[in-house]
Amino acid sequence: MTLKRITILTLLLAVGFYTDACAQTKLGASIRKILSLGKAPQATELNYGRFQAPTWQELTGLTIENILFDPNPEIPIIPEEHQFSDFSDLPSEYEIWSNTSINPYGISLVGMKDTIKIDVNGYHTPSPKHVTSNWGFRKWKFHYGIDLKVHKGDTVKCAWDGTVRITRRDRGYGYFVVVRHDNGLETLYAHLNRIMVKNDQRIKAGEAVGMGGNTGRSTGYHLHLEFRYLGNPINPNDIVNFETHQVHKPVLVLNAQTFAYKQEIDKIRYWTVRKGDTLGRIAYRTGVSINKLCALNGITKNTVLRIGRKIRYT
Ligand SMILES: [Zn+2]
Repeated sequence: MTLKRITILTLLLAVGFYTDACAQTKLGASIRKILSLGKAPQATELNYGRFQAPTWQELTGLTIENILFDPNPEIPIIPEEHQFSDFSDLPSEYEIWSNTSINPYGISLVGMKDTIKIDVNGYHTPSPKHVTSNWGFRKWKFHYGIDLKVHKGDTVKCAWDGTVRITRRDRGYGYFVVVRHDNGLETLYAHLNRIMVKNDQRIKAGEAVGMGGNTGRSTGYHLHLEFRYLGNPINPNDIVNFETHQVHKPVLVLNAQTFAYKQEIDKIRYWTVRKGDTLGRIAYRTGVSINKLCALNGITKNTVLRIGRKIRYT
């Protein structure tokens, strides 16, 4: 062994000893790191007790760059129901308070110029069951409400908070109730078996107005429900989704479109069947073809025309 070799060996041993001696120091760790280069990396121990709170950037996904330099920042759309809404004041015609007449106001809203905003929050379905007959044309009559299934003795509930205006009996509606709601709408509940409220009584949404029935011009147990504003019927489907029994939107907007259906009704003309009338004679007198008369009235050329029946011809 030459002196040179001995010197190198001594030096290496010294470095090794020094490394061990400095194991707990920063310098020792650095030397060990250099010596262990190329070895498999050691797994880092996770400290589960000290997770850092996410940064604002991680939470929002925004960086200073895209805040400062985004040429088209997207402004989030606020849902309509969250926007502040100025609800319309009740019209002066509502100073009229009648316990007998369904429509004592004498106001037609066909072609109305204004837009009226009504708060329909807090709606409670009068009957949670399915629709048995919808709003709209029924042969030669227009159905101004919607029919909901009820069973005998089911409670019919008030739609919104309000005051009972009418509790009456009528040939068509049977036992019926009209409520004036605080939001300006009025609802009518017909064919009841029993009325459970009194005129001018305050009532809350969801409280009983009566029991479901089959009184008046009605075939089978059902609730005939109408929604009106100043006496003018509104299509119930414009307000409520009758599958979920929830209002479409918390703000109901009434405008000329809401009452445009009345113009369609006014366009319609009827021929009342007299003695000796046939489809051919009605076609000749009205100038409308037999086929069109059949289509408009849901009848065939062989249908017997009862005297007094109304035949639609426009
Ligand atoms: Zn009905």
